[in-house]
Amino acid sequence: MSPAQNISPDVAANLAAIIAAIEAARKKAVAPAPETRLVAVTKGHDASRIMPALEAGHRLFGENRVQEAKVKWPALREKFAGVQLHLIGPLQTNKVREAVELFDAIHSLDRLKLAHALKDEMERAGRKLDLFVQVNTGEEPQKAGVAPGDAVAFVKEAGALGLNVIGLMCIPPLNEEPALHFALLKKLAGECGLTQLSMGMSDDFETAIKFGATHVRIGTAIFGPRAR
Ligand SMILES: *Cc1c(COP(=O)(O)O)cnc(C)c1O
Repeated sequence: MSPAQNISPDVAANLAAIIAAIEAARKKAVAPAPETRLVAVTKGHDASRIMPALEAGHRLFGENRVQEAKVKWPALREKFAGVQLHLIGPLQTNKVREAVELFDAIHSLDRLKLAHALKDEMERAGRKLDLFVQVNTGEEPQKAGVAPGDAVAFVKEAGALGLNVIGLMCIPPLNEEPALHFALLKKLAGECGLTQLSMGMSDDFETAIKFGATHVRIGTAIFGPRAR
């Protein structure tokens, strides 16, 4: 059974348990990243469910849609200082203006058209977001991300535009061993000269930590199942 099927309704308790599990996985890992940050993924949950995590002192959150983040986060940010919000889902170029305004980092840079749009908007707004390039490690046709073979060239091009690319991100295919994908992402990051690795979700974050994850993106294990 997946651990995500046994979630307590107590968000603060789940958060504490996940933070402890991250620490335990880091202790067990032979070569963990110097730091592994928890991006608590709040998509599909409303403010009342997010609040206990904020009250417990957590400040780093992830959303996968611009429109949803825009509804929930401005009010929460007014109540809680120091929130950092990361966009972890696909970004359309017509949402770039709102995304640059709302988010502190984007994990889903995956095409040059988007790179150019982000560059223009960040210059206009005078904001510089941290960016991760999403890599389609499973080369799945329906999934976003640059092909593994294109990652080095793409990161170089984005860097030449002046974008602040700090790492790579992946979402392994559903029914494959995630370790192979995390190992590939780490290898590619090395080839790109990047140190940050956004990888690992509720069911596989311990494995991701073993392979050097600097950012794990965990939703269900903290906030429970999402309404569909
Ligand atoms: C929803 C989502 C997550 C979190 O997934 P859980 O299985 O709920 O932990 C992580 N990354 C991305 C890109 C997501 O869309």
